[in-house]
Amino acid sequence: MRRILLAILFLLSCGHARFDWQLPIESCYDDAIVAAKLLYDFSEPSLATNQKVRGASFITRGTTAVVFYNRKDLWRIQEQYGRDAVVGIFAHEVGHAIDKQRGINSSESDADVHAGCLIGILGRNPEPLKAFFRAESRPSATHPKASVRNNSVEKGYLMCKRLWGR
Ligand SMILES: [Zn+2]
Repeated sequence: MRRILLAILFLLSCGHARFDWQLPIESCYDDAIVAAKLLYDFSEPSLATNQKVRGASFITRGTTAVVFYNRKDLWRIQEQYGRDAVVGIFAHEVGHAIDKQRGINSSESDADVHAGCLIGILGRNPEPLKAFFRAESRPSATHPKASVRNNSVEKGYLMCKRLWGR
């Protein structure tokens, strides 16, 4: 049953080639949420556009959790790297939300492991996200360099891909 649901999910999901042109970028977020709910008792954060964020970001205000995303930026990333990169970016933010709900303040590496894992659960390709990190991730006090980020993505991907016997 789970396999069938996943197969249907894959066909309807945001990056499936046949449907790419007609599905909104927000469907990539929905995919990440579905994958998170398969793994965790998880209530989804609300989703809101914000032109000031780069890609997407997760914030909590009191008891409210929000994933902000820059639609224009994500369309550009989709064009450049493919839709699985957008799924990965949303999955990273969902990863922060998963940890937050479990009382953990996750590091960027934790969220990257989640991103890889959710990509694996969805049967998607982690390479577009890694290509995006290689080209555009800016190391900072909180964000490790691209090679470290990509190791985390790969770790999560391999871990969760196996869960579903892919
Ligand atoms: Zn993050």
